[in-house]
Amino acid sequence: MNIVKRIIYNYGIPIIGCLCHNRNRYVNVIYYHDIVDDKGYSFMQTNFELFKKQMEYIASKGYETVRFDDLKTEVDERYDSKRIIIAFDDGWKSNYTRIYELMKSLGLKYNIYLAVKEIGVNPDYLTWDEVRKMHNEGMVGFGAHSYTHPDMSDISKIDLEVEFTKADAIFEEQLGYKPMDFCYPFGTYSEESNEYISSHLSYKRIYTSRMMYSYRQNGKLIFGRNGISNDESFGVFKAKLKGYFNVWRTIIR
Ligand SMILES: [Zn+2]
Repeated sequence: MNIVKRIIYNYGIPIIGCLCHNRNRYVNVIYYHDIVDDKGYSFMQTNFELFKKQMEYIASKGYETVRFDDLKTEVDERYDSKRIIIAFDDGWKSNYTRIYELMKSLGLKYNIYLAVKEIGVNPDYLTWDEVRKMHNEGMVGFGAHSYTHPDMSDISKIDLEVEFTKADAIFEEQLGYKPMDFCYPFGTYSEESNEYISSHLSYKRIYTSRMMYSYRQNGKLIFGRNGISNDESFGVFKAKLKGYFNVWRTIIR
């Protein structure tokens, strides 16, 4: 990122977002992937000490953190400056081993989208016992993230039976309920994939990686999210937390 873009990103967007944040309509979602002890990398790996500092900040500011299970009505999905969804993509092992006790001690609930093929099989990922424990203790909500984690921008190339039917059947068998939340692998999607999933599948919310470009389609919520990068400043983190990065929708609507 060159210096001009960096200034716009670090200061311009947060300032515009701050001025326009009353246009936020849906609860703000921030998301991570793996939490690591080494220095971390971009959106994929977040350093534990940095993550801890961010979570302590959220707890100290009195945010209410919600699980997917808490989003029962459209009222629950509305924007509230003191409510936040913390989410993790894929189901990395560290989402239990490294952060579960920390999150419990801070009283922060969170959510994980599971790439089902890896769960209980790949040692870098969670086991179903860990998933059930976190869910049963009321701290962590779970959502779908396909079976093999393919790029879904061209839905015609997707094996729907495997990525949705099979993945959700395993999810339900292991957890006892159908996932109501689906997150695109890689965050990639198209108008066609949104149309297919929102009209044919039973998920209530479909999450992209597009910063808070959220709207309803076929009665489902197409939900933008704020990725938290290991390499961004604490100021940018705070601005994302407040929904100040949701300027895309703010400007065009
Ligand atoms: Zn993923």
